[in-house]
Order: sequence, then C-alpha cells, then structure tokens
Amino acid sequence: MENRLRLAPSPTGLFHIGTARTALFNWLYAQKIGGKFLIRIEDTDFLRSKSEYTKNILEGLKWLGLKWDEEPVKQSDRITIYKKYIKKLMESGFAYRCFTTENEISELREEQKKKGYPPKHDNRHRNLSKEEIEKFISQGRNSVIRFKIDEKIQIKWVDQIRGEIKWQGKDLGGDLVLSRRAMGYEIGDPLYNLAVVVDDNFMNITHVVRGEDHISNTAKQILIYEALNFKLPTFSHTPLILNNEGKKLSKRDCVTSIDEFRDMGYLPEALSNYMAFLGWSPKSAEKEILSLDEISKIFDLSDINKAGAKFSWEKLNWINSQYIKNMESVKLSEIISRYWENMGWNPPSQEWAIKLVNLIKDSMTLLKDAIDQSKPFFSLPPIDKEGQDFLEKNNSKEPLQLILNYLIEQNTVKLDKEIGKQIINEISKKHNFKKGTLMKSLRVAFFGSLSGPDLIQSWELFSENKSDISRIERCLKSI
Ligand code: GLU
Repeated sequence: MENRLRLAPSPTGLFHIGTARTALFNWLYAQKIGGKFLIRIEDTDFLRSKSEYTKNILEGLKWLGLKWDEEPVKQSDRITIYKKYIKKLMESGFAYRCFTTENEISELREEQKKKGYPPKHDNRHRNLSKEEIEKFISQGRNSVIRFKIDEKIQIKWVDQIRGEIKWQGKDLGGDLVLSRRAMGYEIGDPLYNLAVVVDDNFMNITHVVRGEDHISNTAKQILIYEALNFKLPTFSHTPLILNNEGKKLSKRDCVTSIDEFRDMGYLPEALSNYMAFLGWSPKSAEKEILSLDEISKIFDLSDINKAGAKFSWEKLNWINSQYIKNMESVKLSEIISRYWENMGWNPPSQEWAIKLVNLIKDSMTLLKDAIDQSKPFFSLPPIDKEGQDFLEKNNSKEPLQLILNYLIEQNTVKLDKEIGKQIINEISKKHNFKKGTLMKSLRVAFFGSLSGPDLIQSWELFSENKSDISRIERCLKSI
C-alpha cells in the first residue's frame, strides 16, 4: 500500500511558521518512507478563507522546497460529497437533527458556568420523534446535524509521537456538530471534523501528522471513521512552537509568516533546516547544518519531542549565516544583486560583484545585511569623527599623498592584492611610516572610518573604477 501524507491548511491567513513546520515534518516523513506528500485546502469557512491566502501558502511551500505530488484538493469543491456522508450518518442512526437555538445554548452555557462545569451540549434532541421534528420545522426553527458521542466510551490510539493516548467520550463536549444551521430538512454547510475524515479517507491518507492542538479532534474523528467504516490512518501530534516565555508563538512575537522570514533575508534552505530541528531531536545527526535530503534520510516521527519547541532567533540566525557563508559565490552574488538593484546600485562587472560578495559574506547574518555591508562600495561615506582624528593625529596627509602619486603614475597597472601589499610595504619602508598607520589612513580614506572589511581586498575593488584615487583625493582635502 502506498504511504500518503498531507498538509491540510485553512487559508484564513498568511502561511504561518507553525503550518510550515507541520508541512516540513509531513514532507520529510513522506520522503523517508518513499510516500507521497499531498495538499488539501480546507476552505469551508467561507467568511474567513481567501484565495490570496491559498496562493500565499502554496508559494511559501514552493519557496521552502516542499514540493507536493498531486493536484491540491479543495474542500469547497466537495461540499455535496460531505453532505452525502452526513445524510448517511443520519440514516444509519449515528447523527440526528438538533434544533437547539442560539439562545438556548447560551442559557445552557451560563448554567454550566455558574456550576463551574466546562461547556457541553446536553444532547436534548437526540431522540426526537418524527412529529416533534415536524413541529420544530413548522415553527421555522433551523437545525444543525449532530453526531452522537457515547458518554461512556473511551477512545484510544497509539500516537506515533506520544504513545498511547486515551480520551473519554464524556470529555468531548457533547454530541458533535457536523454541519452549520439550515432551514427545513436541508443539511447546512459541513464542518471541519466531518470534512477531514471524509477527505483523509478519499485521499487514502495513511499517516496524519498535525499539531497537538488537534488531539481532541482526533478523538472525535476516530468515532466518525468507525461510524463510516473507514480504515484509520496513524496519527502523530507535533509539539507547539513556543516563544521565549514558553507561550505559543503568535503574531505578537513579531514574525510568524513565512513571507516575513523571506523578506527579512533568511534563505529557504536555512529556514527549513532550522524548522526541522524545531521539535525534532535525531538520534544520529552529528551536524546541525543539513540539507532537506540529508534530513529526510535520518528523519523519524518517533524522534519528534512531545514537549513544546522554543523558537530561537539566535539559532536561526546562526544557521542562516552558515548557509550564506557556504553558498556558492555565483549563486549568492545573483541573490545579493537583487538587493543592490533595489537600491539602484550597479556593480561594474560580474567578477567585481562576486569579489565583493566573497568579501562581505562572512560578516552577514541575513541577506539584507548585504545592503549595509556593501554600501561603502557603491557610495562615498562621510569621514566620521574618529577617522578624522586619526588622520590628523598621525599626519596621514603625506603617506596618503604618496600612495595617490604612486597610483596616478602606475595608471595602467591593474591593482590586485599583491600589488596593494607591495605599495604599502614600499612606501612604509622608503618613508619610514608605520605600516599599521598607513593602512588605517587608507581605511579612513576608503570607508570614512576605522572599521570595514579587509583593506587590501577592498582596495582591489575600489581600484576597478578608480574610486581608490577619488577617495584618497577627497580625504586629502579634509586633512
Ligand atoms: N485545517 C486544519 C488547520 O489548519 C488542519 C487539519 C488537519 O491537519 O487535520 O489547523
């Protein structure tokens, strides 16, 4: 039998990191066992579901490298099918029409609250006679369809992450609503628990892997599987992603949507790598930097932790910086060129761009750091106070003038690292200047300050369009 896993997002918001991590675990396990990874868009909440969110979720999955194997299933296309199953459950005595009004439900809740009981429906219409039903309908009352939940039953399953889970029927909130309110003998729009069971069966899902917030739904769904005589998949409930205070990561924690991570400058490979370790502790991984392919080979649901996984910016940043550092230069320069383009910066050549990227990549954490790091190579920074003081205290005018003269004389020589070093050595020896002072003066000339990337390599880049000359000239004027 083919192994089939799925992600079943509700398109009621942007692609969230929690959903993305669930997708990743499903995808990884599907790869591991040679199964399929499928998508089902759960858009039966017509008011909150939006097609732009579906688009956002699918684009986010693609960006993360999580390809799905079949055309996504959309629940809004399958409403009549769900209604057929609801009807079947009614005909076989598992479900019934319930006419309790909103007001009656509120009264019941109030009463329960006063007694300190949790909300639970009292199943008052479970055994209505045909005549009673007719009477309610003739009064114009609308109705939902409820699935009978035996109070005395215990529901048990072996969760692939948590081991045996037991749930008592009496703790499921009373008979389960399968459909929204509808008039007369109509069946209203189907709700989540019914649609999920029908679709997981229809899609031949063998492994359901989803967040721990669905544990009580699983108990309800198992009862529906049994009533419909469907084969049960295995269930795995993944831990929540927590913030620093140990609470569920939410919008208040600044960044939660995958778009935002992308816009902040995280690489998809780095984010996927980080997310895999968010709640998963492999027995056999020696490294933390692993591609999705490598992870899928050692991934197992049983290595997912039960306890919530704390989100760590520090770790994510470290992983991202490792990916930036180790990325192939041409590929990285293509990515960074887009940031330059947005700033209106044009590198003089592709070779120059690659050299600059190699120069700055070790000090980058996020892709957007490339803007700050490469800015002095595209525009002339002002000389800061510390730089200016240095120039004046160390009589930098003369050595800088000598370097300038040398550069002008050697106009035709293409400067590289060796020549740069040679110029510094020669001038410092000949004129008895300290090499360190000379280099720092040059640094102020190039960067306007005493900090910046490797001087000689930077010089090579500045010399490409002679901006080493113009920068030294500008600096001389300021001393
Ligand atoms: N649509 C549900 C959600 O977004 C997922 C349901 C499931 O995986 O069964 O939380």
